[in-house]
Amino acid sequence: MNKGRLIVFSAPSGCGKGTMLGEIMKDERFRLSVSATTRDPRPGEIDGVNYHFITREEFEKRIENGEFLEHAEYCGNLYGSLVNEADPYLEQGLNVVLEIEVQGAMQIREKRPDALFVFIAPPSMAEIRRRLLKRGTETPEVIEQRIAQATMELGYAQDYDYIIVNDALEDAVADFFTVIRAEQVRAPFMSDHIEEVIKNA
Ligand code: 5GP
Repeated sequence: MNKGRLIVFSAPSGCGKGTMLGEIMKDERFRLSVSATTRDPRPGEIDGVNYHFITREEFEKRIENGEFLEHAEYCGNLYGSLVNEADPYLEQGLNVVLEIEVQGAMQIREKRPDALFVFIAPPSMAEIRRRLLKRGTETPEVIEQRIAQATMELGYAQDYDYIIVNDALEDAVADFFTVIRAEQVRAPFMSDHIEEVIKNA
């Protein structure tokens, strides 16, 4: 069986990444890796589902144990992708999505050059602010902090393989699946098929 593809999926706060991922995960070929974080759960978030919520001490111990594919500090909290949230599923042939910020993405670029890098961009900054205010889970200071962060993150968009603008949700999700399909038929991923055809000629 073919191994699954590791997909790095990054978007500044307020780009509608969560909603997009909800749609993508309806497709059973995809699995969302559950990250570890030291931040407090938001109302409604469940340990082991949204994140593995752990202490800074525990996080640092896991770094030392080599349990992370990547990790980064973001707005004062640590976040990291666990090896055992990705590799066993890739082996099973599932495409594993890492929903991570840009510093972590650049670490994956180094470690897993065969990963696919997708950046979700907003239609405008005004739209980001509007979506964050509507969500109402952050204080005004945190919203401003996240907007400054978003501006910085947009500067990394060109380091990704694809940039999808999330204006209308259905279009953005359709763009994502178009990217996946195009990637599946790229020559390096078709080499097994070609070998098979030649062998049986
Ligand atoms: P939030 O606190 O809003 O859930 O996430 C804040 C930021 O951390 C988002 O940009 C999200 O993509 C990023 N993030 C979540 N999990 C990870 C992770 O495992 N590694 C890294 N590097 N970033 C993460």
